[in-house]
Amino acid sequence: MQITLFDHIAGAYYGDLRMDDSIVEQIVEHTEETWQPDRRDEERGSNTRQGKVAEEIVEQFFLQFLEDKIAMKSYDDIRNDDFEKHAPFDFLIWKKGTVDIKPIVASIQRDINNTPNKFVHLSEHTRRLCKDANVKIAEVKSTQIREDLKRNSGFSGNYEDGKEVRKLINEIKSKDDIFCYPYFTRSVSSRDYSMEDYCQLAKQQENSLNPFTGEKLRKMVLELEVIHQCCDVFIRVYLDLMAKRGFIIGWLGKEHLLDYEVRLKRMPKRGKSENALYFTKKLSEVEGIDTLPELFEDGLEVYASPYTTTNFYHCKTDCKYIRNVKWEELKVFTSEEQARQNGRYTKRCLNCFDNRGDYDGES
Ligand SMILES: [Zn+2]
Repeated sequence: MQITLFDHIAGAYYGDLRMDDSIVEQIVEHTEETWQPDRRDEERGSNTRQGKVAEEIVEQFFLQFLEDKIAMKSYDDIRNDDFEKHAPFDFLIWKKGTVDIKPIVASIQRDINNTPNKFVHLSEHTRRLCKDANVKIAEVKSTQIREDLKRNSGFSGNYEDGKEVRKLINEIKSKDDIFCYPYFTRSVSSRDYSMEDYCQLAKQQENSLNPFTGEKLRKMVLELEVIHQCCDVFIRVYLDLMAKRGFIIGWLGKEHLLDYEVRLKRMPKRGKSENALYFTKKLSEVEGIDTLPELFEDGLEVYASPYTTTNFYHCKTDCKYIRNVKWEELKVFTSEEQARQNGRYTKRCLNCFDNRGDYDGES
């Protein structure tokens, strides 16, 4: 597989990809449709294949570009169920050379064995093992590049033309979303279901939310979403299966995806009165896939001003946007992830992160 990196996007040409058709068939056979039960087998097959192609591209990208930094294990390598049950994630990733993955793999296999139905649920024990070892649970979401995206960006179909490809990618990033499923319900019938409605539903199901209303309730509900969401990292891939091309558009941590700015979106289900619910952010907010190792850069302290009205955090204390804040008043986080978990500081300051030479690499 040929992969190139441009503008923090990984572009793959997978003409030589060997796909194990028997695995695809096995998964299709056992797939219980969660939101499109009317889908026919061949369509399921192509969706499953699409997912497998996307995973393969991500895996190859890690091997070719991040091999000295990141280690990974795919769920398919861990699973012991003959592809009978639904996968709760796609990859485990961690900083190379820092983790003995065997106990985590064993714990996940126990979870699979203990799952009575088709939907594997990671146990508290597994998630704690991952958290303690700083192993991230990742999900790859793939989408076919639609005709309207090609048309609107004036794409002629020539993937060798860098200028055209960049315009196509920009169109994708400006129009599409990165998303995850909500915890309290995934589908509603109401056509004007709002975040407010969702918060009320959460309140009915979760006693601890009782004292809260309004903005505080919304904040607490989103905190619960982060806690219940088992995937730490979402990776977004766009594919043109006919042309055998794929693009890793970027990634987003769950704390960033599910922060206060997240939108609840309804998608009508085909031929039904039900609507599927998603939490979404614009794809323009994703981080470049080559920056993924930053997830594991502990020790990179970041700083934020308690007085600012913006949501930026900084990696240099002498950045012009925070140098007037007294040292003892500056908010200090031990990692970017921690800053984002705080909920208020979710964006990197472009001024200091773009000129941070001394923080690059292994230092
Ligand atoms: Zn700055």
